[in-house]
Amino acid sequence: MRIQCEFIAAILIFSFFCFPLSPTVSAAADERARERHAMVKEQIAARGVTDPVTLKALQQVPRHRFVPAAQSRYAYEDRPLPIGQGQTISQPFIVGYMTEIIHPGPGKKILEIGTGSGYQAAVLAATGAQVYTIEIIPELAASAAARLQQLGYRKLMAKTADGYYGWAEHAPFDAIVVTAATEFVPPPLIEQLADGGLMVIPVGTPYFVQTLLLIQRQGETTSSTNLMPVRFVPFKRAE
Ligand code: SAH
Repeated sequence: MRIQCEFIAAILIFSFFCFPLSPTVSAAADERARERHAMVKEQIAARGVTDPVTLKALQQVPRHRFVPAAQSRYAYEDRPLPIGQGQTISQPFIVGYMTEIIHPGPGKKILEIGTGSGYQAAVLAATGAQVYTIEIIPELAASAAARLQQLGYRKLMAKTADGYYGWAEHAPFDAIVVTAATEFVPPPLIEQLADGGLMVIPVGTPYFVQTLLLIQRQGETTSSTNLMPVRFVPFKRAE
């Protein structure tokens, strides 16, 4: 009898200490989902990104997991954030805009140049596309790969290399997303674009305002459309 009472008392103590904590934990997780929902609605959809596939992917990917702990509280604000090595995770609106414009989704093969934190790659993968992403800074490539694996993004391959050369083994790509500013469009990337494929790329002078271009390949010809002024970190070249 005594054992039973102690057992019941133990359960009551356990319940008292453990169960009240659970809602607090899930409330904290919810809190970030609410912030993310507000980010998608107020910063991205309100500014003209309407593609449901893109908006759903942005709603799913936990941006706060892609920034350093010290930046986590700003993760759902409308701005780029430092991710170490002098690089930045892009502003959420730009990620949404660049995602929507290349029409990602299941069955699409997409190459990203400039993995950085892995956030843009995760958003592309969350649309159901198969994603290949290249980062030139080994430390960022390693931390992004670990993060993407931990978060369970399976339709994604990452490597450390100079993205100027693209990823010939997996070409052609339905779309290419370049997230560092180049002075000209690297010819290997045009070659690796599928017929009818789309590339979104910031082109211009490093450290100044660049122009975001949409390149479309039709057979052996390409056309280019100026989308908007942007500011990206410079495209580096391997020495
Ligand atoms: N897409 C990233 C943001 C990237 S910032 C994100 O979602 O977090 C641009 C990234 O491009 C930086 O990490 C930079 O190191 C990388 N980069 C610059 N030049 C590159 C090149 N030639 N090849 C591959 N990555 C490059």
